[in-house]
Amino acid sequence: MTPQPPVQLTHLPAGEGPAVAIHGGAGVDPASLSPEQAAAAAAALSAAVAAGRAVLDEGGAALDAVCASVRVLEDSECFNAGRGAALTVEGTAELDACVMTGDSRSGAVTCANGPRNPVMAARAVMEQTDHVLMAAPAAALLEQWGLEVVSPDYYVTEARRRMLEETSSFLEYKHGTVGAVARDRSGRVAAATSTGGITAQLPGRVGDTPLVGCGTWADDATVAVSCTGQGELFVRGAVAHEIHARLRWGGQDLATAVRETIDELVGARGADGGLIAVTPAGEVVLAFNSPGMYRGHDVGTGPVTAIG
Ligand code: ASP
Repeated sequence: MTPQPPVQLTHLPAGEGPAVAIHGGAGVDPASLSPEQAAAAAAALSAAVAAGRAVLDEGGAALDAVCASVRVLEDSECFNAGRGAALTVEGTAELDACVMTGDSRSGAVTCANGPRNPVMAARAVMEQTDHVLMAAPAAALLEQWGLEVVSPDYYVTEARRRMLEETSSFLEYKHGTVGAVARDRSGRVAAATSTGGITAQLPGRVGDTPLVGCGTWADDATVAVSCTGQGELFVRGAVAHEIHARLRWGGQDLATAVRETIDELVGARGADGGLIAVTPAGEVVLAFNSPGMYRGHDVGTGPVTAIG
């Protein structure tokens, strides 16, 4: 097991109004990005923060805000979700996504290939079915839900093809994910997460992203969380739910809960990753133990984005 570096953590105290935070994955090493790549990612992060913030400023719900932010990130080739998703060992894209609202409603899709915006398919599962998680939803069903359906080629970019060629094993853990958490004017919270998984994964592999309590969680009494990192560890640690449990039962403050959870359940087990979290009071934490994490937030004091 490789020892992981200490957690880098940004903590924004509770504010009066709404708050949104986003991530574009903890699988990035800022030193490896060209200035053009960094600029493109920064622009997409800003657009995603602005999209979520605009919903909240108009009095919209936290759920609408996180979906608006995640759609922007899915549409950008810079991140591993939607277009530009990481490819399986067979060169195919299998998308996972999950949404959860603080009143404990949730929807998710796994191994999806068809929805332009997997986060909207997850939302449709929540709002238009009696289920929580659906695997490989058929194109006809996606259309019935009113979603835009794309061809399998849509997701595949030249950069991801090259990445797959240069990857000899899943265990190189070339990963990424996008996500958003928000608190709206009424103090409700929501989380959304979307990913293509890890480069060279086996077809059919399911990571933490679509699993409630692992990569995504929201509870109006405690916290909304969206995770990114080596998914198997986040599943085994039920990481998103762990943050909730520490707040609810352990009486911990948010920053301590996040730092200790990443240290104990991810870093100490030899993995890297990060997460973003917002409480119903509007407190925000963004944290990771990897070389970088694409991220951004706007808690009412203006948009901020960062990579390293
Ligand atoms: N957690 C994602 C997965 O394992 C990858 C990532 O977030 O980087 O599928």
